[in-house]
Amino acid sequence: MSTTTDIPLIELNSGQRIPQLGFGTFQIEPSETAALVSHALSVGYRHIDTAQMYGNEAGVGAAIRESSIDRDEIFVTTKLNNSFHEPGAARAAFERSLMEMGLGYVDLFLIHWPLPTVPETDYLETWKTLEEFAADGRARSIGVSNFQVDHLERLDRAGTTTPAVNQIELHPRFLNREVDEYGKHNGIPTEAWSPLGQGELLDDPVVTGLADELDRTAAQVVLRWQLQRGNIVFPKSANEARIEENFDVFGFDLSDAQIGSLDALDRGADGRIGPHPDHFDMIPD
Ligand code: NAD
Repeated sequence: MSTTTDIPLIELNSGQRIPQLGFGTFQIEPSETAALVSHALSVGYRHIDTAQMYGNEAGVGAAIRESSIDRDEIFVTTKLNNSFHEPGAARAAFERSLMEMGLGYVDLFLIHWPLPTVPETDYLETWKTLEEFAADGRARSIGVSNFQVDHLERLDRAGTTTPAVNQIELHPRFLNREVDEYGKHNGIPTEAWSPLGQGELLDDPVVTGLADELDRTAAQVVLRWQLQRGNIVFPKSANEARIEENFDVFGFDLSDAQIGSLDALDRGADGRIGPHPDHFDMIPD
């Protein structure tokens, strides 16, 4: 079984170090969140990914506060909901996240979606507001999610802080190459969301074949592929045994040929599961 010290740490442009493997909480019921995050912490995870949109920040914060682990040994990320891009709303929403979690700071705060087609929002202005949270120390690092290359280039041209990460959809059926490669060449590590393709690719014969060959599970093979490609990942599961399984991914390696066989599952744009960031304009009530 892997332990916390097996997890590689990736240095961010803030100087902070993020554990490459974490625990994702999308679609985890608010009522179950504290218990599942506590379980993840007891297994050895030290990185938790949540969002205002998930409605479960309170449970994440409770588990962190109630654990016996020092706060500075846990890396917690949350994200600005789409309704709060306007600077005043973003300041209030960030404050609410800290209150909900009962924490004095978050390790990483992200713009969840760029919303380029929503006339009332401008992600560049939103980004400048996040810079305030980094400056006052309440967000140790700031980053973005679902940003396309042109969005990142616009931040760069404006001379703003380089995002500490870009959290994007990426799994063997959707390599999201252009965005991933832009980040890797410009000092913006990729966080791969839906690293297991939401579980859909786990019965692909290439994946199950490698799992048999390596005497590992399909999920472990895909997570190993993600880690060896340099991506930061936080698989989600509401099942304690799977939370443990997804953590136990440090005792083996994929060969270059095995990595290549998973790369070959890429379906390009057809492999995308989630919404396209250029068009996604969902504003929750
Ligand atoms: P995922 O790829 O982590 O897949 C989760 C699903 O895979 C589970 O619900 C379960 O059905 C299955 N699964 C998990 N472990 C398994 C195992 N060991 N064996 C068999 N099946 C298993 O999908 P996700 O939750 O969408 O993504 C992970 C995290 O990424 C989220 O929890 C969230 O934190 C983040 N995320 C971010 C965005 C964004 O827009 N920034 C979008 C989606 C997800």
